[in-house]
Amino acid sequence: MATTAAQKEQIRDVILTHAHLDHTAGLPLFIDDLFVSLDEPVRVYGTKEVIKILEENIFNWEIYPKFSELKNKYGAVMQFVRIEHETEIFIKHLCIKPIEVNHEVHTVGFLISDDNSKIAITGDTAETERFWEIVNGEKSPAAIFVECAFPDELEDLAFASHHLTPSALRRELKKLRHANCPVYVINMKPMYREQLVKQIGKLKIENLHILEVGKVYEL
Ligand SMILES: [Zn+2]
Repeated sequence: MATTAAQKEQIRDVILTHAHLDHTAGLPLFIDDLFVSLDEPVRVYGTKEVIKILEENIFNWEIYPKFSELKNKYGAVMQFVRIEHETEIFIKHLCIKPIEVNHEVHTVGFLISDDNSKIAITGDTAETERFWEIVNGEKSPAAIFVECAFPDELEDLAFASHHLTPSALRRELKKLRHANCPVYVINMKPMYREQLVKQIGKLKIENLHILEVGKVYEL
């Protein structure tokens, strides 16, 4: 939804962690905007569970057209690409490995690398194990991005919806063995940003930062 016209012209690969609407709501309109001019399909990467949910619940002719069956004058406009747990895929200069995490629908995080560096991103998750096991097995990741959606007061809601609070984040970070690796908090619910910033600050964890939207980070 936030993409500029120039960015829309460049983006042809969309990689999804999961199907929740706050992660997919812009996708149908993104493809719709580009429908006539696409001279190659937009490739939408997801696990088989994620693709199934999108096909049954969004691209189903009721909520929006089934773009995977439609063509413009150049050919297909959208193509689903299935990804598998812990199997690397290569897109442009990036290597991406999906890792299953613990959310209330099927969700993956990613290990993403190029020739120079590697980062890890949890996607939406509650407490999880395999993600940290894999990250700990990597040689010096450049940065790790971890969700923290709700403040501590909403622990019950966080628990029910499989998200982290600052207290849960602290427990998760005890599993991380790369002591000097910067960790950036992502996916804070905008309504609670102020509370979250305060509570995350109070954790006093060195190398823990809040990711600033719009800032360019050099790794
Ligand atoms: Zn979610």
